[in-house]
Amino acid sequence: MKIKTTFLILLSALLFSCTRAPQQKQAYNPADNALLMATFYNYYAAEYQALCYQAYNVAKERVTQLHKEFPKKKNMAVVVDIDETVLNNSPYQALSVEKNSHYPQCWDSWCEQAAAKPVPGAVSFLRYADSLGFQVFYVTNRNIKLKAATMKNLRKFNFPQVTDGHVYMKTTTSDKEPRRQVISKQYDIVLLAGDNLGDLYEASGKYPQRNQKVKALRNNFGVKYIVLPNSMYGTWPAGLGLFSKNPPVDSLLKVMAKSFGNACR
Ligand SMILES: [Mg+2]
Repeated sequence: MKIKTTFLILLSALLFSCTRAPQQKQAYNPADNALLMATFYNYYAAEYQALCYQAYNVAKERVTQLHKEFPKKKNMAVVVDIDETVLNNSPYQALSVEKNSHYPQCWDSWCEQAAAKPVPGAVSFLRYADSLGFQVFYVTNRNIKLKAATMKNLRKFNFPQVTDGHVYMKTTTSDKEPRRQVISKQYDIVLLAGDNLGDLYEASGKYPQRNQKVKALRNNFGVKYIVLPNSMYGTWPAGLGLFSKNPPVDSLLKVMAKSFGNACR
C-alpha cells in the first residue's frame, strides 16, 4: 500500500510537471534595452547592410586606383580587423541579451563554433584585392588560443589568404600598433579596415581627444581608412567613462541638452 501511494504521488508530480504552463519568458522592451536595439541593428537593419556595402565599395575603388597607380608594386598590403569588420557576431550579442550575460562569458565557445557569418561585402572585397595581388592580413584581438577556430570560420566563407602568417591574433596586448609594425617591416600597408579606431591607427585616449584625432585625420577616411558600423560595442563607451564606477551620464546629457534650448521643458 505504501509503495502504491508513493508511486501515485510520484506519478501526479510527474504529470503536474508535464502539464504545467511553460514559464513566462521575460518580456523585452526594445526601446529600453540599448544592447538589444544595437544588436538588432547590426543583424536586421537594411541600413547596416547598406553601410557595409558602402564601406567595401569604397575599399574596392581604392585598391583599383592603387593597382593602376603602382601596377608593379608587389608588397602592397590590406589589413583588416575580424570582428564586426569581416565577421558578424551579432548572434553572440543576442545570446548575451537573452542570458543577461556579458563579454567574455560564452565568447570562446561562440568563436570555437566558427559560426559567424561574413559582414556584407567583405568576402567580395578581399577576394578582389587578392586577385589584384594585394597581401591581405587579418589583425584581431581574439585570443591566440582561438586562432584555429577563427581561421576555420574565415575559410568556411572563402576569405582569401587565411594562412598562419596572415592571421595575427592577440598575444600580450590589445594595442594593434606593434602587430602593424611587424607587417610594415615587409609590406606597405596601403589600406586598413575596422569597426574600432584602434584597428586603423594608434587610437588610445578618451573623449574628446578621440574625436579631435578623427577630425585631424578626416582626409584619410575612405582613402586609407575604411570604417565599418558597429553599434554593439567598441572602445568609445570606455572613452566616455561609461564603464567607470560613477559614469558621468548626467553631465553627458547636460552637454547634449544645451541644444534643446527651452523646447519641451
Ligand atoms: Mg572589430
